[in-house]
Amino acid sequence: MPIPPLYGHEGIRNRLVGAIASGRLPQALLLEGPRGVGKQRLGLWLAQALVCERPVNGRGREKGEPCGECQPCRLVLNVSHPDVHWFVPVEPAKKGADADKQVDLAAEALAEQLAARRERRLYEPPSGLASHGIASVRLMLRRLALKPALGRHKVFLIGDAERLVPQTGAEAAANALLKALEEPPADTVFVLTSSEPDALLPTILSRVVRVRVARNADSIVAAFAQRELGLKSQRDIAERVTSADGSIGKLLASGEGAGGTGQAAEAFLGAVAGGAVQRYGFALRQTPFQARGGFTAMLDGLLEQLRARARAGGDTARAVEAIAHTLDARELAQGNVNPQLVTAVLADELAELK
Ligand SMILES: [Zn+2]
Repeated sequence: MPIPPLYGHEGIRNRLVGAIASGRLPQALLLEGPRGVGKQRLGLWLAQALVCERPVNGRGREKGEPCGECQPCRLVLNVSHPDVHWFVPVEPAKKGADADKQVDLAAEALAEQLAARRERRLYEPPSGLASHGIASVRLMLRRLALKPALGRHKVFLIGDAERLVPQTGAEAAANALLKALEEPPADTVFVLTSSEPDALLPTILSRVVRVRVARNADSIVAAFAQRELGLKSQRDIAERVTSADGSIGKLLASGEGAGGTGQAAEAFLGAVAGGAVQRYGFALRQTPFQARGGFTAMLDGLLEQLRARARAGGDTARAVEAIAHTLDARELAQGNVNPQLVTAVLADELAELK
């Protein structure tokens, strides 16, 4: 499924295509603004504008808008353009692998994340452990050295850029990235995005042109709800637009599918409260492979509910122990384990705490 069209941000779009037309587009940009307002989507749109074969004159817009229909545009919209390198934070691979292997593992984890973004319109904020670690940076440098495969430009879109972390012992790679940000190859544009720009390293902030991405007007969020989500009831639209607070990401999160992980966590706790039969039944309903996708999300939902219970009072020591067991399971889930087994063990552990 192609990613949904970009809504709003007309002012920035006009400035960007104007800059491209006059050859003044900075080669390192930071799109900063609240979470969910479409910064990475805007970054992809800019990538599209750079690789599009037939930039068009939109309604009342500057010349140079991406057409959305040529092959390069369609590849960007399907998150599969070979010259548009989208980096999102990933969880670090297990220690022990050598540097080359770490880079391969980072590439795999990244491909997994992007596949998920291709399939689902809404993506969650990165998990607490995810980062652009040194293996991701090495992967960027590898791709930076390539000539563009299709056109004249390469674009590096680095989402949640505050997760770029320096690592002791790997300064060479980190410094190489800083140098690339300062003097990118002539065919390359870096687009960083962040909702916490103050958390970015000063060495990075000093090398990018900062662009503020504001919340969308309610009318724009409403148009998205109507056209992209097919909402019809004016009351539904009004309610969801109000709670979205100018963020299409928030609008998506308030819709169907959201709460799916919450419901799974709820079902898990229900099974724990039942007997052994319910616990094993629930364990066997998990897929026996791929602990990293939805299963990890379910564990995150479980952690959230356990923390909420701890905050609400009651037996805190018990809640803390339950959280510790769940964190252990989550750690296991990042390796090559069978979710059914992890679920069965965790359910027993939590049941013993009752
Ligand atoms: Zn195009």
